[in-house]
Formats: sequence, C-alpha cells, structure tokens
Amino acid sequence: MRAAKATSGNLFANDPAFEVTAQTVSVLPPLPLAGPYDYLVPDGVSVAPGDFVEIPLGRQTQRGVVWGDAKGDVDPAKLREIFGVLPTPPMADVTRKFIDWVSAYTMAPQGAVLRMAMSVPDALEAPKPIFRFTLNPEFDAASLRMTPPRKRVLAFLADHPPMEQGDILRETGAGASVIKGLVEVGAVQRLMVTPPSPFEAPDLDIPRPDLSAEQNEAADALCARLDDGGFSCTLLDGVTGSGKTEVYFEPIRAALAQGKQVVVLLPEIALSAQWLQRFRDRFGVEPALWHSEVGQARRRDTWRAVADGSAKLVVGARSALFLPYHDLGLIVVDEEHEHAFKQEDGVMYHARDMAVTRAHLGNIPIVLASATPSLETLANVEAGRYQHVQLGSRHGVAVLPSVEIIDIRQDKPQRNRWITPTLKKRLAETFANGEQAMLFLNRRGYAPLTLCRACGHRFQCPNCTAWLVEHRAWGKLQCHHCGYQAKAPDACPSCGAEGKLAPCGPGVERLYEEAVETFPDIRVEVATSDNIMGPKAAAQLIDRVHNHEVDLLIGTQILAKGYHFPMLTLVGVVDADLGLAGGDLRAAERSYQLLTQVAGRAGRGDRPGTVMLQTADPANRVIKAIAAGDRDAFNEVELSQRMTHGMPPHGRLAALIISGKKESEVDEAAWRIGRVAPRGDGLMVLGPAPAPLSLLRGRYRRRFMIRADKSVKMQALIHDWLSKVKTPGSVRVQVDIDPYSFM
Ligand code: ADP
Ligand code: ZN
Repeated sequence: MRAAKATSGNLFANDPAFEVTAQTVSVLPPLPLAGPYDYLVPDGVSVAPGDFVEIPLGRQTQRGVVWGDAKGDVDPAKLREIFGVLPTPPMADVTRKFIDWVSAYTMAPQGAVLRMAMSVPDALEAPKPIFRFTLNPEFDAASLRMTPPRKRVLAFLADHPPMEQGDILRETGAGASVIKGLVEVGAVQRLMVTPPSPFEAPDLDIPRPDLSAEQNEAADALCARLDDGGFSCTLLDGVTGSGKTEVYFEPIRAALAQGKQVVVLLPEIALSAQWLQRFRDRFGVEPALWHSEVGQARRRDTWRAVADGSAKLVVGARSALFLPYHDLGLIVVDEEHEHAFKQEDGVMYHARDMAVTRAHLGNIPIVLASATPSLETLANVEAGRYQHVQLGSRHGVAVLPSVEIIDIRQDKPQRNRWITPTLKKRLAETFANGEQAMLFLNRRGYAPLTLCRACGHRFQCPNCTAWLVEHRAWGKLQCHHCGYQAKAPDACPSCGAEGKLAPCGPGVERLYEEAVETFPDIRVEVATSDNIMGPKAAAQLIDRVHNHEVDLLIGTQILAKGYHFPMLTLVGVVDADLGLAGGDLRAAERSYQLLTQVAGRAGRGDRPGTVMLQTADPANRVIKAIAAGDRDAFNEVELSQRMTHGMPPHGRLAALIISGKKESEVDEAAWRIGRVAPRGDGLMVLGPAPAPLSLLRGRYRRRFMIRADKSVKMQALIHDWLSKVKTPGSVRVQVDIDPYSFM
C-alpha cells in the first residue's frame, strides 16, 4: 500500500502539528465542478488508484474514484474517512489518464469528465446474484413425503441442469412453496450464481465475404497495424459504396481474436440499423450498443460488461469513448468528418480527436473512415502523422453517380414551388423505370419562416434569436433551438389581420405537398428526425424502401449517411446552396461533405445513379467540385485559404461564450474579460461580440474568438486570462477549444 507521508507539495509539510500518520488518498467525485479531494483511509481498508469508493462529501454520500496520492493541501486533521470500496472492477490507469488529459485539453474540470465515464450510478453495485435449483445427489428420496407437484419438480430437475425458480414453476405448474419445501427437507439444493454477461462472444469463424483486390489490400494494411502493436492512426479513405465497413471489419476481427475489446464510434448510432445488421452477419452476435436511447437497465449491464471485459465490441455515439474499458485494443471512428462528433455543451470535446488521444494513451491502433475526410485529418496524413489507406472504386458493378447542375435562375420552378421542370422530368422518368428517387432538403417542418403579409410581422422565438418553424402536421410553430412551441394562429398577433399569414420558403413537409400534387400516383414518404425516431423506426423505413413500398423519399440529413438502397437511382438536392450561407469557417467543407454523402446514396446497386443539384450559384467552387468529382482540387483550395488566414488545421481556434439571464450583467462581464484580453505575436482576439444566437434558451450570449499560431499554448493562455477577471456567479463563461459551432 502506498505510504501517505507528507510530500514536498504539502502545504503543511514543515508543520509538526500536521504530520500525516494515517494513509491518505485523493478521490475524484463525478461532479461538474470537482477536482480530486483528499481523504483518509480507515484502518484495515486497503485501496489502490482506480478503486471505486464511497465518500462523505458535504452532507451527502458520494461515489468517486481513487485518483492517486493525497494532494496534501488540506490540514490532515480535517480530512474525513472514505466509507468503503465498491464491488466494481477498478478503473484502468489508461482511463484515468484519459480523463485527466481530456480535462486539461478542454479545460473542463476533471469531475465533469469523470461524470461521462460514470454515467450509470447503478452499475457500481454488484449485480444481484441469481439462484438456481438442482437435485441433491446425497438425498435419500425414500424418506420424502411425496406429492404430485413434488414429483413433477423432482422429475424435471433430474432431467435438467440447475434451473431458476421461474422456469421450474412454469414448466411443472408447481407453486413456489413446493420448491421451498423441497429445499428445507434437503431434497433440492439452492445454488447462488453470478449472472452471466448479457453479451455473447463474437463468432470469429464466420467466413469473410470475398473482398476485391483493392479491399483486400486495404484490410491487410489495417490488420498489419494491429500486428505491429502500439499506437497508429490510419485514415481509411474510400468513396461512398467502396465497402469501408467490410474492410474495417477485418482489423476488428483480428483485435477480437487477440481477446481485446473494440469500440466503433458512429455519428448517428440510433439510425444505424443497416450497419448493425451487417455486424450481426459478420460476427453472429449483437454488439453492445451505447447511446442516449439505450434503457437504464441495459446501460447498467453494458457498463459493467465493458468494465469486466465481457462486452467485446461496443458500438456507440461519442460518449462510448468514456466507458471504462477493461482491455481496449482497437478504435474505429466511422464518418470521421461528421460534426456530430463534437459535443457542444457540458464538456465540449471532439470525439474523433479525443479518440485519437485515447488510442495514443492506450498504445493501440485507431482507424478513421470517411469518403470525405476532414481537412484536419488530411493535414495529419500530409504531415505523415496518419497513415493513408484508399479505396478508389465502388464495390461490384456499382459506379459513382454522375452529377448534373440545374441553374434555378434559368430553369425556374413555379411560384411557391421548388422542383424545377428538369428535375420533375427526371423524377417522372425514374418512376416510369420502376426505380426510386430521393429529394434532399435539410429543413425540417413546413416552412422556415412565417410572415404576416399585412404588417410584415415575423414569428420569432421568445427565448432565442431564431424564427419559429411551422410544422403544419402538428399545427404548431416550433423553435429548433430550444423546442419552444406555439399553436399556429389564424390572425396576426401584431396587426390582427386574418388570413394574411404566409409561409416563406420550403421545408420537407411543404416539399411533400408539392411532390404528391405533382406525382399523384407515386408513394412518397418523408424522413426527418421528427418522425424517424430511434433504431426501430429507422429499420422499418429501410424495410419499406427495400421492399419498394416507397417510390420517393424526401428527407433531411438523416438520409445522407450510410443507407444503401440498390434501386435508388436519382437524388435531387433541392437547395444545394443552403449550407453555404452563413459563412462559418467550415461552411464550404461541410457543404461539400454533406452533398457528397447525399449524392453517394444514388446508384449503389447495378443501375447507375444520377445526382441533380439545384443551385442559384453554379459557379460556386463547392458546387463545381462536386459536379467534377474533384475532391482533391476542392481540398487544396480550401486548405490554402485556411493557410492564408491561419485557420485550422493551420492554426488554432478557441471561443469563449459568456452567457447569463441578465443582458447588462453579461455585457459587463464580457467587457471586463475583454479589457484584459491577451495580446502577442501569432495571436488574435476578436470580441466581445453578440453571438449570432445572441439569445439562446433565454440566455444572452456574447462571444470571443481566439486565433493563435500552432506554437501558442492555448489552454495556458486562456487559463491565465480568465484568472485575471472575476465574474458574478450568474454569468457563465464557457471555453470551447477547437470550436465547430460559431453560433
Ligand atoms: P461505404 O461504407 O464505403 O460507403 P459499404 O461498406 O456500405 O460502403 O459498402 C457498400 C455496399 O457494398 C454494402 O451493401 C456492402 O455490404 C457491399 N459490399 C462491399 N464490399 C463487399 C464485398 N466484398 N462483398 C460483398 N458485398 C460488399
Ligand atoms: Zn427558442
């Protein structure tokens, strides 16, 4: 056991009154503002770093993790004792290091990061044992007073392995008292067993599909990284439909064969029904799922099974990275370019970047997969930090779709209509051929804005700087930022005029109306996060499309990724300019990625596909790059622009978001912070400025943006900066390192 002698960092080290005699340790509780606190270890109790313990904290009992030696910053006479050690496998060293690292990088307190790793408090209790019953071989049955139910139970147990009470009762029709009686007289034994892990071991003997030469080579390269051992980061860069999933299944199999655990991060795990089916086909079992829709009991079992190592493969959203792995051997981040990997509240972290760190700390390989890798990742490839494995063609006979541009200034839709004559004609042809089509419009609801034609009043959210979106299906106006809802009125609340309220612009519901009117004989379905909620609904939608119960699918970005529909040959992008507006740092990149993903849904079977982009700006380089299929040219221009402005990946960014309920307090705090803003070479601080969402969920928001050269130690700089200002408790200061949202 570690000694608890005073160390040099101990404030009381030279004061004999404070000589430490008992053992002390630091314990980190999973609380948003907490760091590790010192505790005494009672006599006769032995603890080691990583142990889950129960501690007194204030007036409450808390649970935490032994983080290491005592810090020695509190008078030992005032320390309290830990209550005891919980029956949970200790948290691995690497997990604790990871939490410390993420905390230092994101500037979130360690307790806030630990909270993500301890999100299921119940899991810390030992699982309830289960009882099984079996015949006692020593028992002399002749001495037993026999009754028909007893006879049935004994006969049943003679034929079966130890069984649980419920099963015995159901099979024999006997009552619980019968079993109780048999146990009392000694005819039957009650055995206590630990419940088995709910996760079966993957079947590693299922033969792999025949991989193409190119796929084989890629799979071998990834498996070689695993054989090499140690850390490596490989970009698996393959066009949509090239079989990236089949390829990264091979290193997964290899890692599982070594007895290691594997985690796969997917951006929209709840909608990944097709991915899960492929996993089942390849490995014969269900993976352990980890995302917000997994129920509480299942979460508890999963957390424990990950901690004891019996869950071998975890598939999850970004939070799966913080599970307490027993022995993680490989990480895969699919669709690594996805912005959904950035968590925007609480601990603001990018799960892809943290995954690379986790792999580094664990000294294991990581695979990043994408058809449209992020510029950050491509820069790392270029710098030789990441390896590069490419898949240049689609699997089988499928070829990449051809892309056509429709200039909506020439080829005009009718008033309050959004489908151009050209697209309409192509849709008609597609349906006539018995094929399927998809219309992509990244806007939920009926119309993004409602306007009074009499007085010009616009419906705005009372809590946010945002218009209310009409959802005609529910008869409501809704804020997409805070969820505020109001009944859609008949009269204008401002001027009272009736029948003058007009929807402006299209949402998917409005597009649906147009599609049904234009093609009365075809079957149209809308898919957005409003109606496709969760894996079940997604799986049912996929079945309907596969069974060709749907001719035209209208949807938002939830349709952009992953889905594979062989009969879908035409994709119409209704407003290709939508993502380009707003002009944040990554608008062009993100738009390029999204449109490429959407386009990638077309022509995945043996019929070739077409993508039609409706745009008012055909000369835009994003539109041109997609039409030309020239990713490298696009990235080159984008990278050189970022270089010119010292933007990521060539420089570093951070944001400060100052928010509160009172506008004057927020302004005052922002002004004070601004007054002591750091200056220096290779550094630029912008702000304070009202955030584009200057009111969000009832909080006023001001922003600072910090741009720095790569050599600047951003966290230390911000730490120093903020330590110079005191802000009132009612004002929150959030630090966003590597921001992806500029709202
Ligand atoms: P990507 O993720 O690169 O877009 P997928 O992994 O989804 O591509 O593969 C596209 C489709 O091709 C999937 O239906 C997949 O099952 C199929 N596929 C890919 N490679 C093979 C293979 N070697 N054998 C059989 N089917 C394959
Ligand atoms: Zn709102």
